[in-house]
Amino acid sequence: MIRNAIVIGAGIGGLACATALARRGVAVRLLEQAPEITEVGAGLQVSPNGLAVLRALGVEDALVRSGAVTAQAVVMADYKQGAEVARLDLTRLQHQRYLFVHRHTLISILLQAARQANVTLETGQKVVSVTQGDLPSVTFADGRTARAERVICADGVHSIGRQTVSPGPEAQFTGQVAWRATVPTQGAKPEARVTMAPGRHLVSYPISGGRLMNIVAVQERDVWAAEGWHHSDDPDALRRAFAGFGGPVAPLLEQVSEVNLWGLFRHPVVETWASGNVALLGDAAHPTLPFLAQGANLALEDAWVLAECLAGEQPEESYQALRKDRATQVIAAAGGNAWKYHLPTGPLRTLAHLGLSVASRCAPGMMMRQFDWIYSHDVTKR
Ligand SMILES: Cc1cc2nc3c(=O)[nH]c(=O)nc-3n(C[C@H](O)[C@H](O)[C@H](O)COP(=O)(O)OP(=O)(O)OC[C@H]3O[C@@H](n4cnc5c(N)ncnc54)[C@H](O)[C@@H]3O)c2cc1C
Repeated sequence: MIRNAIVIGAGIGGLACATALARRGVAVRLLEQAPEITEVGAGLQVSPNGLAVLRALGVEDALVRSGAVTAQAVVMADYKQGAEVARLDLTRLQHQRYLFVHRHTLISILLQAARQANVTLETGQKVVSVTQGDLPSVTFADGRTARAERVICADGVHSIGRQTVSPGPEAQFTGQVAWRATVPTQGAKPEARVTMAPGRHLVSYPISGGRLMNIVAVQERDVWAAEGWHHSDDPDALRRAFAGFGGPVAPLLEQVSEVNLWGLFRHPVVETWASGNVALLGDAAHPTLPFLAQGANLALEDAWVLAECLAGEQPEESYQALRKDRATQVIAAAGGNAWKYHLPTGPLRTLAHLGLSVASRCAPGMMMRQFDWIYSHDVTKR
């Protein structure tokens, strides 16, 4: 078992891993580039596989007390009038919960857990390079260095650590962009709605005790957009792209006053997850397209398994073997999903929607079972 570690990145994966390690007696320095821990005002779907890790970290109840919405269904709807096409009944997830949370709430609760576990958090610390070795090191923007027995890179989609541990091909723009916004709401059902249109879809679900509606709107387009949440856009650009959406979407879009735009890129899962005492986790190892809402859930799974491996509860070398196939399969499934939402008007779209509708009404259990392999994966139980 190691005695100390540096974790780069106080996002969802970094906070979870730092806490899980510190609880096992490892002295953890958690380095975050941002001057303070803030989060974009956006929602996140936490599925049972991610929630299993949050439960093991002891933060599930705090999350629910802080306004996480227990989801009851995912509804697929057509864009014109918002008519329901199909319904995934999440109450069929036996003994499991699916939550809609505000990212800020999740990060705050994980931060509190990290502090209680004696993780040393250092903000305003941008790491510019990572060096492997018996005692690996990180170098900060001002030239200082720090060492520990292990360095864990939980530094997200533009990871510094990935360039060292597993340099690979550039990410490819998918020809899709996503806007994210939240708007006030009241009395919304605890359901995610996926509203499907040719070349576009919009996902909406309530967060923060039902006071806010989270919106993720994806459009196919040729023009490249940067990858990262801090690029704001004009709300009218979103409204123009989704003009023609009737049903409940139109009044939601009317209310949008601030919006961020994110270019969606396809990244290969890294070949090597750990070497020279430096390990990657979460988006640093495998950014995913958002079409199964699994990025943060996979980061939580990685965090738990890596902490177990470094604490000697599993062989350290088994981290990659335990995680790579799982992440690759989930990411491939997410990548294969967009076209189903974006079918052009015509016989294929009509047929596909009819198929979904019939399956949803006649075999609702089967509709849910197709996600069993994702949701019932519990890394905290061996
Ligand atoms: C449109 C969209 C919707 C999504 N919806 C969902 C969803 O519903 N459910 C879900 O599970 N996932 C969702 N995701 C994915 C999810 O947001 C990410 O997969 C998840 O946040 C990854 O967590 P992470 O800890 O790996 O990285 P991050 O959360 O990105 O954290 C990385 C941290 O590292 C810090 N950092 C970066 N570089 C450095 C450096 N050099 N030095 C110091 N600190 C550094 C950053 O400031 C940040 O705090 C969505 C993604 C998109 C694009």
